[in-house]
Amino acid sequence: MDKFSYVNATSLKQVTSLLSDSGWGEVMLIAGGTDLLSELKEYIETPKTLINLKTLPEMEGISSDAAGIKIGALTTIADIAMHPTIQHHYTVLAQAATSVATPQIRNVGTIGGNLCQRPRCWYYRDETVNCIKKGGDLCYAVDGLSKYHAILGGDPVYIVHPSDIAPALIALNASMKITGPEGEKTMKVEEFFTLPSDNPFRENVLQPNEIVVEIQIPNTKPNTKSLYLKAREKGAPDFALASVAGVFEMAGRTCQSANIVLGGVAPKPWRSTEAENVLTGKMVDKAVSMKAGEEAVQKARPLNDNEYKVTLTQNLISRAVMMAVS
Ligand SMILES: Cc1cc2nc3c(=O)[nH]c(=O)nc-3n(C[C@H](O)[C@H](O)[C@H](O)COP(=O)(O)OP(=O)(O)OC[C@H]3O[C@@H](n4cnc5c(N)ncnc54)[C@H](O)[C@@H]3O)c2cc1C
Ligand code: SF4
Repeated sequence: MDKFSYVNATSLKQVTSLLSDSGWGEVMLIAGGTDLLSELKEYIETPKTLINLKTLPEMEGISSDAAGIKIGALTTIADIAMHPTIQHHYTVLAQAATSVATPQIRNVGTIGGNLCQRPRCWYYRDETVNCIKKGGDLCYAVDGLSKYHAILGGDPVYIVHPSDIAPALIALNASMKITGPEGEKTMKVEEFFTLPSDNPFRENVLQPNEIVVEIQIPNTKPNTKSLYLKAREKGAPDFALASVAGVFEMAGRTCQSANIVLGGVAPKPWRSTEAENVLTGKMVDKAVSMKAGEEAVQKARPLNDNEYKVTLTQNLISRAVMMAVS
């Protein structure tokens, strides 16, 4: 790890002004540090200054009002997983948070850090490999080891977005508040994430002088059912091979609306409008749920080692739909 100076944040204004003087990677934010510290140790990131956000208590905590709930970016994943309102009204988010990593990481890792964490691709995490994401010419996953890589939305970079929380937030129509030198702005979480075809170097639209401050989730209707289903390689805590965040408005067994967002299969959380279209307005049964799964993977383009993800994703969607309506 290279040497860096360490600054405890005193205000958002101070943080944006410190960030404004630098480009990507010179001055960096640290929240729980569960992702960033491993990048520093591997020399993937070599900032000159780290700004500790944890000294800004106003960025932490969960509150609710008439419109829905607000979650400060420094709120830990454990606090989200265990929050009674989230468990009851935003079940998909509580389940997604519970599925993240280990209790130790959930106790320290924050929702802001989870959304901004960097890819887990083993070529990216190897300091000796200069792939496209790091400014090189090749994506080594294409002809190399691609078991955990993208089947949807890749090209030219086949990372998968590692967050479990992001698909749940998108399925819940959540927004995020971002602060920068020009003040505050709010955007849909769905619009925050980008594809490599737009920018192969970053996974979202956050600028080097901006901070994620808060997540806002609107109220759900009383007839909403939601759940998060995640397939892992092993029973122990692990990143998703594929996951499904589903939010359904139901009238009996008829699906009035469906939000289906996939994790672990694409460079960004992947909304499956194909599956949503199959379900909307239909009486949901096994055949309809299987059709939704089939349609969701029609555009899948697996690499050499990850064709299994196509069947896995298809079946996971079908199972999630049946679980949600049963
Ligand atoms: C062993 C292991 C297993 C894991 N398994 C899973 C899993 O199953 N599912 C899953 O979803 N995740 C998993 N993770 C990732 C983990 O959830 C993240 O590391 C964690 O959520 C990051 O939060 P943090 O507060 O520690 O972020 P940090 O490590 O402090 O920061 C991560 C990145 O986000 C930036 N950042 C942090 N906060 C902000 C902010 N407010 N505004 C702008 N940028 C910010 C930092 O600059 C940095 O680039 C795993 C991690 C490990 C180490
Ligand atoms: S998937 Fe992305 S990070 Fe991994 S080798 Fe390809 S370009 Fe690099």
